[in-house]
Amino acid sequence: ELERLRQKAEAPAISIDGSRVEVFANIASPRDAEAAIRNGAEGSGLFRTEFLFLNRKTAPTEEEQFGAFVKVGEAFGEKPVIIRTFDIGGDKQIDYMRLPDEANPFLGVRGLRLYETHRELFTAHIRAILRAAFSFNFQIMVPMVAEVDECIRIRSAIEEVHTDLEREGVQHRWPLPIGAMIETPAAALLAGKLASRVDFFSIGSNDLTQYIMAAERGNPNLVHFADPLHPAVLSAIKLAVESAHLHGKKIGVCGEMGSDRDGIAALLALGVDEISMSPAKIPEAKERIRSLDRSRLLSLLPHLEEEGSAKAIRSFLKELEEGR
Ligand code: PEP
Ligand code: MG
Repeated sequence: ELERLRQKAEAPAISIDGSRVEVFANIASPRDAEAAIRNGAEGSGLFRTEFLFLNRKTAPTEEEQFGAFVKVGEAFGEKPVIIRTFDIGGDKQIDYMRLPDEANPFLGVRGLRLYETHRELFTAHIRAILRAAFSFNFQIMVPMVAEVDECIRIRSAIEEVHTDLEREGVQHRWPLPIGAMIETPAAALLAGKLASRVDFFSIGSNDLTQYIMAAERGNPNLVHFADPLHPAVLSAIKLAVESAHLHGKKIGVCGEMGSDRDGIAALLALGVDEISMSPAKIPEAKERIRSLDRSRLLSLLPHLEEEGSAKAIRSFLKELEEGR
């Protein structure tokens, strides 16, 4: 029985009508990587690298980071691992980075907004990623993108690191895919313009919801706004998916929405290529995908869009399931 469950977890997730959705794992440490593989992850759609920086007095060295990346690579083997460059700031503060005091940290210097003022940290980070990527199927993903110029600058900053490594004769991978997170409303609105500058997208539904709804994630008084099934969020995701596909780019989702029953149904209707979630949720999410009819959901999308709230969208999906 255990063996049967394990095989089921490892098998791909294909909807009733034959559409495959890749199911990846969100990980935050080498230890999570092992859990991801045990639970049937086909890759990692989000490797949160912040653990390397948090709870310590000094910045991690390039070697230390390299070691952690290699460990994750070893767990995933040939499977793709999307390494997200450090997303510090917002609710994640770090003493040795001396970040500015801000009235609204979530609207402040966060994610890639830090990289130009913290050049040394950024360089050591990218060096470690490119070096570890030599032996593995790594991709780089950048958090908090909000405009086209950022995509251009980040790509050339990463390329500069590659040029240095090459000059020094240090073994590393180049080129490798560089993607952008769609987690600001600006990025969703500009996805059509960003698409020609990046290799792939991944929707961060947690932050995208927070920023679209202007409601801080985790604020207990605003939980009803923290629902990624809100029509405004779905509409932003729809735009991003259409823009990505128009340019032949893949688009995944790495926020909590990807492991929510209704979220999965909505994401199938919206046409995403991959969903990534915490390892423990993978087997159930795969079963959920196997129970859905993607073309039917697709044809119902206009009705879904007519609903007036996240709550109404959830009841619509529930009625659908119960065949009412
Ligand atoms: C997100 O914002 O949805 C996301 C996946 O990133 P994080 O939760 O780490 O901000
Ligand atoms: Mg985020």
